[in-house]
Amino acid sequence: MTNAVASPANPSGCDDTEILRERGQRELFCGLTGIVWLHRKIKDAFFLVVGSRTCAHLLQSAAGVMIFAEPRFGTAILDERDLAGMADCNDELDRVVAELLARRPDIRLLFLVGSCPSEVIKLDLGRAASRLDARHAGAVRVLADSGSGIETSFTPGAVACLAALVPGLAPSRDSELLVVGSMADGVEDQFARLFAAMGIGKVGFLPAREAAAMPTVGPGTRFLLAQPFLAQTARALESRGARRIPAPYPLGVEGTTAWLAAAAAEFGVAPDRLEAAIALPQERGRRALARYRAQLAGKRVFLFPDSQLEIPLARFLTRELGMRVIEAGTPYLHREHLAEERALLSADVRLSEGQDVERQLDRCLAARPDLTVCGLGLANPLEAQGLTTKWSIELLFTPVQGYDQAGDLAELFARPLNRRARLKELVP
Ligand code: SF4
Repeated sequence: MTNAVASPANPSGCDDTEILRERGQRELFCGLTGIVWLHRKIKDAFFLVVGSRTCAHLLQSAAGVMIFAEPRFGTAILDERDLAGMADCNDELDRVVAELLARRPDIRLLFLVGSCPSEVIKLDLGRAASRLDARHAGAVRVLADSGSGIETSFTPGAVACLAALVPGLAPSRDSELLVVGSMADGVEDQFARLFAAMGIGKVGFLPAREAAAMPTVGPGTRFLLAQPFLAQTARALESRGARRIPAPYPLGVEGTTAWLAAAAAEFGVAPDRLEAAIALPQERGRRALARYRAQLAGKRVFLFPDSQLEIPLARFLTRELGMRVIEAGTPYLHREHLAEERALLSADVRLSEGQDVERQLDRCLAARPDLTVCGLGLANPLEAQGLTTKWSIELLFTPVQGYDQAGDLAELFARPLNRRARLKELVP
């Protein structure tokens, strides 16, 4: 199961006829919330949401429970009276940005983040960013992207910020590896050490921790995606001549090994050198998982579409923990970027794309899974129906990639079951 190079269990699993496609009412988190997680990564960036009071409330409540550091985001609230004149609106935005930069001289990268209220849609934030970028040239870069709840759910919302960074990356002709996707600093350090031990010379990470340290890109760049919701960023990198290395995602021991092995094959790393580099952390990861496998094997899981991590998670849960996934729903299934994951997934996992939330709830309630992974909005109603739930957003805010996080990832699924068992003891 956890060989150095994963072997496909279901090589024919990429048949699209097997996917249940649904187009109905959706229950997804707004794209703006992606900021809450990305702002922790780039330490000298600031995310200025141009939005309504609703956007400000959402961010405040999401951030209130999910971050513990000094916020590096805020909301410029556009009122209905601003509809009267867009010229005034631009003046107002310029004034807010000037005040912000005067008060926070540590800011080197400013994102103007669009939202979905109609008054914001009418504002050309791309043009506003170009104007402000020219005005503050040399001190601060100003970029625009959209976190609108109409255009994006919460993972693509954060990714729009990454894609906006790509045109500004310095050109390079070097042969280099680029790891794409926001990961916790500690996880990034672990991967940097592994790539060094494998003998891959130049390795960059996008996003970097500081605006001035962003990686280079060019025709010699080959990139690994750390998460499956980075299609927009991948397209932007490919337009700069870079090439994606096809691989599963680094979740669990098996996924991490296959991800590293794909980079090793691309950069001509000898198999014994790869084995020597990964042997110890791989063994630590296996030992950590063994404990959870004993508890979780055979348990039935239902994954609602939310984060776009659902398919790699279904692979991890079934193959490394022995769980049974009844349905793995995903808001959007990128055929190319998920081909390696789907090839590893057992054919008895039902895949669904998009959502018709009422019908999906009916399927879930009929199946009575041991554990349901879903968004915040569905968790309480399902708990009230006696189901045990896990908030999918926690899978994004917790460092889960890599060998040393494999046990933590398994723990996220064990915890709600333990909580339910303890509650049963207290209230039989
Ligand atoms: S962007 Fe739209 S969906 Fe998101 S919080 Fe603002 S108003 Fe709501």
